[in-house]
Amino acid sequence: MRRRSVLAALGLAGLGAIGAFGAGELFGATTPAPAALPPLLRAGRTPRLPLRPAPAAVALPPHFFPPAIEKLPAVYGSISDLPGDGNLLALTVDDGGDADVIAAYARWVAECGMRVTFFLNGSLPGWAQHADLLLPLVQNGQVQLANHTWTHTSLPTLSDDGIRNDLSINDAFIRDTFGVEAKPYFRPPFGHIDDRVQAAAASIGYTVPVMWYGSLADATPITDADLLAMANDWLLPQHIVIGHANYPTVTYHFREIADILRSRGLQPVTLDDVWERP
Ligand SMILES: [Zn+2]
Repeated sequence: MRRRSVLAALGLAGLGAIGAFGAGELFGATTPAPAALPPLLRAGRTPRLPLRPAPAAVALPPHFFPPAIEKLPAVYGSISDLPGDGNLLALTVDDGGDADVIAAYARWVAECGMRVTFFLNGSLPGWAQHADLLLPLVQNGQVQLANHTWTHTSLPTLSDDGIRNDLSINDAFIRDTFGVEAKPYFRPPFGHIDDRVQAAAASIGYTVPVMWYGSLADATPITDADLLAMANDWLLPQHIVIGHANYPTVTYHFREIADILRSRGLQPVTLDDVWERP
């Protein structure tokens, strides 16, 4: 009986739109009057709508806040994760092959308080194109800019001067465009590095090659499912995770990535949040 009245109420909801009949006219005088409670509630099912309206005009807080941590002394030499036990997560994003992806990252960071270190190639036009979006985030510390070379050449294939040159041109671009110092952090393209590269880079102040401990695997195109699987696998405490601003897949999943961080209690950081500059 109860179920039947619920169905009647649901049916009325549909019919009401197409006819001018009231409940009594359609179903006779014995039909129960429409109840005050929504039918789904009376049927004992979980309501899909909130019982109370959400507070109006209350802004949601950002998902993330600046970390409350004491910086470590300046690091020297190659790093691939964050030291010690903790709940920090450094998302590092390379290249910048798609200007729209750069812009999407900047908007996401601005909206949710996320913190990201970009290892950029200044020769890719999106960085200058979206400098206005990035600049306030660079200035407030949510975005750190670091050096991924100008031409994205495998550094062991270059002479010592070639290595210094590829880093220096990009260094000047970052300083001229954003007014910040990228040193001492650089990421060798393709992760290719050896002792000679490290020495040549260090000779101009790039003393910290930044490798990674986990990847979103999106330097080249990736499916949504694979990207989310990588995010699930690698967004872990004290990891430095590498992603790329080359293809839009990641931009469709910023919400899920933020949810993974929040559900795991991870605090996003830039490298500058963790270490003093030399
Ligand atoms: Zn790269």
